[in-house]
Amino acid sequence: MKLSKVLKEKSITLSFEVFPPKADSAFESVKQAAYDVAELKPDYMSVTYGAGGSTSDNTLAIAEGIQKEYGVTTIAHLTCVGATKESIRNSLLNMKNAGVENILALRGDKPKWMDGEPFTDYHYASDLVEEIKKFGGFCIGGACYPEGHPDASGKSQDIENLKKKVDAGCEFLTTQMFFDNNIFYDFLNRAESAGIKVPVIPGIMPITRASQVDNVIRLSGCRLPESLKNITDRFADDKDALLQAGVIYASQQIIDLIANGITNIHIYSMNNAEVVRRIRDNLSGIIKE
Ligand code: FAD
Repeated sequence: MKLSKVLKEKSITLSFEVFPPKADSAFESVKQAAYDVAELKPDYMSVTYGAGGSTSDNTLAIAEGIQKEYGVTTIAHLTCVGATKESIRNSLLNMKNAGVENILALRGDKPKWMDGEPFTDYHYASDLVEEIKKFGGFCIGGACYPEGHPDASGKSQDIENLKKKVDAGCEFLTTQMFFDNNIFYDFLNRAESAGIKVPVIPGIMPITRASQVDNVIRLSGCRLPESLKNITDRFADDKDALLQAGVIYASQQIIDLIANGITNIHIYSMNNAEVVRRIRDNLSGIIKE
C-alpha cells in the first residue's frame, strides 16, 4: 500500500525503522531481529540502505519479506551517492518487481571506501526524487533535519533546499532524531512558513544503551538535553536501568508530540523488538489498535 494512504487511514500511526544485514554480517540473525519488530504489527516499517548502497539487495529482501510474511507495508530507503542513472533505474525496477511501493529518497554520504567524486549523476536527494517521479508508480518520502543538516550553511538555507525536495515530489518527510520536542515544533513552524505542506513525521530514537550516546548522538550532531544527559550518565553502567529510563524518555517525547497534535510517529527501533514493544505498551491507551 502507498504510504500516502496509510498516513491518511488512521488517526495516529506508529511506524518502526529497521536496518538490513550488512554484506559481511550474519544474514539470518539480523533478518530475524527485523522480523521480530515486524511481529509487533506497526502501521508501516522503513528499511535503511547501507552506506553507499552496500546493503541494496538485503534492504530489498527485508522490505519484501516483511510485507509478504507479516502484511506490514514497508518503505525502502534508497541513496544516490555514487549511483548512476542506470543503477538507480535497475534498483527501481527491482523494487517494483518486489512489490515495494514506497521509497525514502536520500542523497547519502560518501563512505570512506568510495573513490573519486561520488555525486556525478545525482547531486542532491531532490535529483533522485525527480528520477523516481519520472519512473512512476512510487510514493516518495524524504529526510529532514530539525537541527539543520550538517552541510547546510544555515537553517533557513536548509529549509529552502527542503522546499525544493518537496516540490520535486516528496509526499512526506521523516525527521532526523531529536531529543527536545521544542526543536521539532520550531522546525515545523519554519517549514510551514516556507510553504512545506506535506506531513512531517518525527523520528524518535530511544537511547537504551550507553554505546548509543557515542555512536548515534555524536555522529548525528543532535543536541542532548540536560535531563537526558543526566540519565545516560547516571545509568551508563546499569543496563536494565538505562533500558527502562530510555524507554520512558522516548515514551514521554511521543506523548507530548501527540498531545500537541502530531498524528504520525516513527521510532528508530535499531532492530530491538523489546524496546519498541515496551514503548508501544506505554502508549496502549493513547494509540489504540
Ligand atoms: P539532501 O536533501 O540532498 O540534503 C543534503 C544537503 O544538501 C543539505 O545540507 C541540503 O541543505 C543541501 N541541499 C539539498 N538540495 C540542495 C540544492 N538543490 N542546492 C543546494 N544545496 C542543497 N543514509 C544512508 O546512507 N542510508 C539510509 O538508509 C539513511 N536513512 C536516513 C533516514 C532519515 C529519516 C534521515 C534523516 C537520514 C537518513 N540517512 C541515511 C542519512 C542521509 O543520507 C544523510 O543525512 C545525508 O547527508 C543527506 O541526505 P539527504 O537525503 O537529507 O540529502
